[in-house]
Amino acid sequence: MIDIEQLRSEFPILATEVNGHPLTYFDNGATNQKPQSVIDALSEYYKGYNSNVHRGAHSLADKATQAFEQTRELLQQFVNAPKSEQIIFTKGTTEGINLVANTYGRANIQAGDEIIVTTMEHHSNIVPWQMIAQEKGATVRNIPISDEGEIIFEEFEKMLSDKVKIVSVVHASNALGTVNPVEKIIEKAHEIGAVVLVDGAQSAAHLPIDVQALDCDFFVTSAHKMFGPTGMGFLYGKEEILNDMPPFMGGGEMIKEVSFDGTTFNTLPYKFEAGTPNIADTVAYAKAVEFINRYGKENIAAREKELLDYATKKLIEEVPTAKIIGTSSNKVSVLSFIIDNIHNYDIGMMLDARGIAVRTGHHCTQPLMARYGLEGTVRASFSVYNTFEEIDKFIEALKRIVKMFG
Ligand code: PMP
Repeated sequence: MIDIEQLRSEFPILATEVNGHPLTYFDNGATNQKPQSVIDALSEYYKGYNSNVHRGAHSLADKATQAFEQTRELLQQFVNAPKSEQIIFTKGTTEGINLVANTYGRANIQAGDEIIVTTMEHHSNIVPWQMIAQEKGATVRNIPISDEGEIIFEEFEKMLSDKVKIVSVVHASNALGTVNPVEKIIEKAHEIGAVVLVDGAQSAAHLPIDVQALDCDFFVTSAHKMFGPTGMGFLYGKEEILNDMPPFMGGGEMIKEVSFDGTTFNTLPYKFEAGTPNIADTVAYAKAVEFINRYGKENIAAREKELLDYATKKLIEEVPTAKIIGTSSNKVSVLSFIIDNIHNYDIGMMLDARGIAVRTGHHCTQPLMARYGLEGTVRASFSVYNTFEEIDKFIEALKRIVKMFG
């Protein structure tokens, strides 16, 4: 059992006020808050051992390199990757997908080929594929979803053919909360020889991730949705696939030897890490992973499920004009909804006036919104540090908004 008061006290921002009210932060799907250990790690690096990595020239560089590589090892364990070299640091999920699209995609996709995504993808798992598809004369196809917000698996099976080279799917939807059956998707995709990328932006901190058990070819995520810093994340890939892939960006770190006659590239993971990396944020990312490990991902997920179930029940019972978008029984803690005759922006603004932060709009999932005939929704996304009292306050505020709009 998690001691919530103790856990909350690790997050300085949770003790602040917004618009004269104690902050109620329900925008965890966009980014979650940072514990003191992560915040401290950033300044400790700059104060105590700021130095470039992998240069080995002096003690500070060694210390920075050690801390930097320790994060890679922690992440390797976190997702059960066979080797730490298979963890490539990126700016986040978006860069991870773009990296794969521009290297694996450009090398392997030909005219007439197909890339399959789901209707519920974040734009970052649509647009990079559209860009490479356009360049190559390939097509991006989307797996349809049911009204509940689940992929229609039989439709996916019908889409499979030897034209399909890549299947790229979101593990948990940021707009609906739906957890997709990625194991089954991967198994089916492998039967026709396609590779599978799993977008783990919303799953890494909430669901158990074992890349070997999943057998995914690529897994990408962002640190800032895992209590870590922004502009940081990683790509996991199968070793032989990463080895065969051409590099993404050229520059320092990613080379073995450079001459005007030609250049040879470094081994994994450095082949994909051109330039001075985001050292401070990488070092701080380790503290975020340690935070999750310390409380236990299962305990965190169990708490978030309780919060989701409580909020869902209360919304249905106490705000009858609300309609939940995404009613799968297998969800991460995302509660997306609309309320009859009230614009989602108005709801968001009025909640904000009471210190309650939610996200409104299309959540970077315009094709998904189009599927439901909506412009956007209100999204409350809960994290382990949220409380039942905060949900009560949120529901009371919604009831007041509904009354005001009469
Ligand atoms: N995929 C999903 C499912 C997401 O929720 C997000 C972030 N909202 C992204 C991709 C993109 O992540 P980032 O902006 O950190 O690159």
